Amino acid sequence: MPNANVRKPSPVIPQVVGKALPTLDPVNHVCRSTEDLHPELAFALKAILSQLTLENIPVEIYESWRAPARQNYLYTIGRSKGGIVQTRNQAWASLHQYGMAVDLGVRVRGDWDWNTYENSHMWARAHRLAEEFGLEHDYSWHFQMSGYELGDLKRAQFPPAGNKGQAWWMKLSEYAGQWNAHGFTPVAPLIPA
Ligand SMILES: [Zn+2]
Repeated sequence: MPNANVRKPSPVIPQVVGKALPTLDPVNHVCRSTEDLHPELAFALKAILSQLTLENIPVEIYESWRAPARQNYLYTIGRSKGGIVQTRNQAWASLHQYGMAVDLGVRVRGDWDWNTYENSHMWARAHRLAEEFGLEHDYSWHFQMSGYELGDLKRAQFPPAGNKGQAWWMKLSEYAGQWNAHGFTPVAPLIPA
């Protein structure tokens, strides 16, 4: 398992964590709930995190669903804004906007950590468990549902969600319906029967 992954810059800007931000601030608000995730991902995550807890590995959800405006803001960091590049993707090119990706972090006494070399074994264990539960990872903190092409998602070809997917499709529908930028208007998922 390569160790370089834990020395990458943190996935988002940790300084904003803990500040009193308006909960609906689309750029700065970090969503950590599994409610808005696709139910398959939420299920896998809960199982993975419980197992990590059993093994005394303090890995938690840092960011789950991410607003498209926040994705575009993060994209500017290290490009039009200063700092280290945070993401390769603009809005709707990241599975975070579809509720199909999550970023994890090591959290000790309230502090998030992505950079400590000695935590490599924790990440290796998280990656192994993710694979067992059918998730993809990039050998860092980003985990997502596997086997889905962005083009399919943009055409609303989503994995079936069933009755447990109501919060997921409501969130996705709301944001897809509002978004009309960069020449792409995402198609909202169909309301499950
Ligand atoms: Zn991510």
